[in-house]
Amino acid sequence: MYTVLAADDAKDTLMLLEFDLQAEGYQVVKALDGESALTAIQNDNIDILLLDLYMPGMSGIETLKKIKENPEWVNIPVIMLSASDDEDQIVQALELGAHDYVTKPYIAKVLLARIRNALRLREKTLTLENLAKTDFLTNLNNKGQFEKLSLKAINQTSRSIQNLSMAMIDIDHFKSVNDNYGHEAGDIVLKQFAGLLASTFRDYDITGRVGGEEFAVCMPNVGLPDALSVCERFRKALEQMPMELGTEQIFVTASIGIACAQHPNVGYDFNQLMQNADKFLYQAKQQSRNITLSHPSETAQPTQAVVVETEPMAAENQEDGLVGIDYQVGLDNVLGDDSLFREILHMFYDDHHEDGLRIQQAIDNDDQGRIKHLVHTLKGVACSVGALQLFERAKLLDVAANDGDKESYQGLFDNVSFELARVINGIKVELKIE
Ligand code: GH3
Ligand code: MG
Ligand code: MG
Repeated sequence: MYTVLAADDAKDTLMLLEFDLQAEGYQVVKALDGESALTAIQNDNIDILLLDLYMPGMSGIETLKKIKENPEWVNIPVIMLSASDDEDQIVQALELGAHDYVTKPYIAKVLLARIRNALRLREKTLTLENLAKTDFLTNLNNKGQFEKLSLKAINQTSRSIQNLSMAMIDIDHFKSVNDNYGHEAGDIVLKQFAGLLASTFRDYDITGRVGGEEFAVCMPNVGLPDALSVCERFRKALEQMPMELGTEQIFVTASIGIACAQHPNVGYDFNQLMQNADKFLYQAKQQSRNITLSHPSETAQPTQAVVVETEPMAAENQEDGLVGIDYQVGLDNVLGDDSLFREILHMFYDDHHEDGLRIQQAIDNDDQGRIKHLVHTLKGVACSVGALQLFERAKLLDVAANDGDKESYQGLFDNVSFELARVINGIKVELKIE
């Protein structure tokens, strides 16, 4: 069912529209002015907008401009509702990207026909857009779309210094499937393989077919240990999955290489990630096939002696350096790269030293969205830098914010704020930030 947003300041017009549209099977959302129309577009899944030219406050033209400026909204078809003598404004609206217009008082049959037309065109455009992004055989993202979505994810995670992993997966001896069972059988295997890939990884992991029998998965906010474990889970499931080729069943395996953005030789760079994942994939093929390989482990398991050695240092840190940060945990998260970790601490300071103020303000203003966002981000980052106490406290506030448990905000925030100030001050001293 399509949802039509009708925006008009005249209540009677809105009622008529609602009546006519519902009779035709559309779901109707109503807005009495431009601002509420934008809110509705943000909150509801709007398929098409009927927009009155004249409204108090934000006019139809201004509302249209805002919609067409927003990349997420630009493709929603807009039909302008106007009085009959508004030629200039209608021309302006069409130039701004309105799809069509209908004069008021409208004739229901004509309006409905124009809505159907606009929706049909929109469907066609969507299908074309999807075709351009999707691999026709497997329905996964094609190479171009995979790169586009990955670049976006890499950009976002690098800003919040979350980790990110990239896996390259290549079916072993796939050529022999084609040689022994035919190209069509090969295609069936590729489809089933893709199905398993899509169902094993999370919805926000980005999967793509990047070559004939080569696939890639970009995993935002996933560090090396978790990436290894999910890829291994996939590899083992594949090994066990019978591929149904008509009357026959065969089994295939795959080799996997993984690279991690926080690894010093990689970074938040699409090409570097792909090249490194490919390098480990190549090594996996050389070694045995049907294995997962990644960065060689550089952080040896801490021995008893190391623990004893580091303890006095930690105590020293308590007094005049880092406070509330488990250095080893933070360091392990960047695979032991000390200078990278210090850089990350500096970024943490830059991005979060005013979080106490910001969160308090958001609580005072009862800005739910902002509280959630700030606390959620702080929680994640506290965990990556090894600020464990801060992480625990932010987690409690995060849960309360998600539950909308407003009464406990202030108390939980006071705990967060105290710990945050300690951690921030410690970093300031340790890194000699002015
Ligand atoms: P390795 O274990 O070293 O990866 O060996 P392989 O045989 O899997 O790799 P190779 O690169 O030698 O061969 C890949 C084969 O995949 C060759 C090509 O014909 C086949 N292929 C590529 N795209 C498709 C496709 O869309 N459908 C089918 N059926 N086969 C494809
Ligand atoms: Mg192969
Ligand atoms: Mg290959």
